[in-house]
Amino acid sequence: MKALSLLGLLPASALALDALSVAFTSDEASHLYNVIRRNSELDYGCRPVVMRSEGEHRLHAIVSSEQLESLKRSLDPAVVRIEVSENLQKRQAATAPIGKGDRFKGGKVAPQGLGSRKAGQPVDLGGIMNVDEVYSAMKGLENKYKTDLFTAPYKTYEGQTVIGGVANKAEQKKKDKQYIYLTSGIHARERGGPDNLIYFISDLLYANEHRTGLTYGKKKYTNSQVKKALGTGIVFIPLTNPDGVRYDQKNGNLWRKNRNPTSSFPGNERSVGVDLNRNFDFLWNYTKHFDPSVSPASNNPSSEAFYGTAPFSEPETKNMAWVYDMFPKIRWFIDVHSAAGTLLYSWGDDVNQANDPKQNLFNPRYDGKRGVVEDSLYKEYIDEEDWYNVALQANRTTDAMVSVGGRTYEPQQAVGLYPTSGASDDYSFSRWHKNKKVNKVYGYTMEFGYPTNFYPTSEEFIQNILDTNAGFMEFCLTAAEIGLKD
Ligand SMILES: [Zn+2]
Repeated sequence: MKALSLLGLLPASALALDALSVAFTSDEASHLYNVIRRNSELDYGCRPVVMRSEGEHRLHAIVSSEQLESLKRSLDPAVVRIEVSENLQKRQAATAPIGKGDRFKGGKVAPQGLGSRKAGQPVDLGGIMNVDEVYSAMKGLENKYKTDLFTAPYKTYEGQTVIGGVANKAEQKKKDKQYIYLTSGIHARERGGPDNLIYFISDLLYANEHRTGLTYGKKKYTNSQVKKALGTGIVFIPLTNPDGVRYDQKNGNLWRKNRNPTSSFPGNERSVGVDLNRNFDFLWNYTKHFDPSVSPASNNPSSEAFYGTAPFSEPETKNMAWVYDMFPKIRWFIDVHSAAGTLLYSWGDDVNQANDPKQNLFNPRYDGKRGVVEDSLYKEYIDEEDWYNVALQANRTTDAMVSVGGRTYEPQQAVGLYPTSGASDDYSFSRWHKNKKVNKVYGYTMEFGYPTNFYPTSEEFIQNILDTNAGFMEFCLTAAEIGLKD
């Protein structure tokens, strides 16, 4: 009877959600590679990520019970094992709540991060910020700290505006003094992303004003480090996909895409929306650029990885790219996602190599050959120094996240076991490779949280803020050390 009454509290759409969190495990990564290749339409989260733990390789996915039955029939259990770790519908009852009302009172109250609070005190933030609270939190920063806000030029399908801010020392509020760019909320269901970013900026501004340091679990930063991080000039957009987040928060149906219905089929709800993180101008036309055996995106509107009708067909991705024109000196970028526990660095289309500059994403000679990570027909060229820098940053940042004391994070090359096209991190790094007149940007994808667990519990929500905030801090400091300019 208890289970029944619990189900009664869930919205109707959640009851219709048939979603199981599964892990494929194998002794050989290549077997998992074959699982992805043969089942490219499964929901692998942001992108397929294979983690190594205790001598085996693990790949996570969200599947329906029908898909699970078919997988069980097609996979040899002696080679690839399937563990059903969680029924996501049941789990929803235990997730961190979405805030009701407006805790920031239209901007009269400014958000305060976790790193600037007294240690050891229990924290109740009031749940995950709803979409309106993200806007009023930004207003709160503007009112309290004179943070410069900007409105991105393209409205979303539902007519919402996307806003960003510049967190800086007062004397540096110039467009050519911003070197760091942070975004979150592109995949709607990845709850807590905008909160991570807003609380981090709030911490920096609070600690700067009060001349204190910041503490994230066991990881501490001094006030001079706070000042140094602020000096890197941070441009941030906490919520790049407000339509999708509003829809996910209302329905609890693990919504990932935006809400553009242009390509949708009548009566097919899952065919609404574009996967914004396959819509950037980076090898977007994957059927031309990649080997036919891999699917780095999808041209099927019902897929979670539907790439849209053209590169930058969506207002949300146009807004994210526009920031590079507004702030031309941006050098370092993170797009914040969940849920895997990784920091991914370039490239994401194939395995890196530093020997043959001709094997590069713009060379038509390699069309139809990219993306097979197991072969050496094609590997993506990266300059040796760039490779060293992007990996060093990923190592430092994940080390800091681990130092918080909550859990492990791994630095990985974005391609991992399987390629992606049209992603924000690769687009940002590829801009300079296409046009040497623009600034070179090192682009990253941060995946906080636990595999395929997009709706954190209240405890996980808090831990994610601590982990990511230490990561952002370290990212800014390491960027300053490696270099903010060419
Ligand atoms: Zn994502």
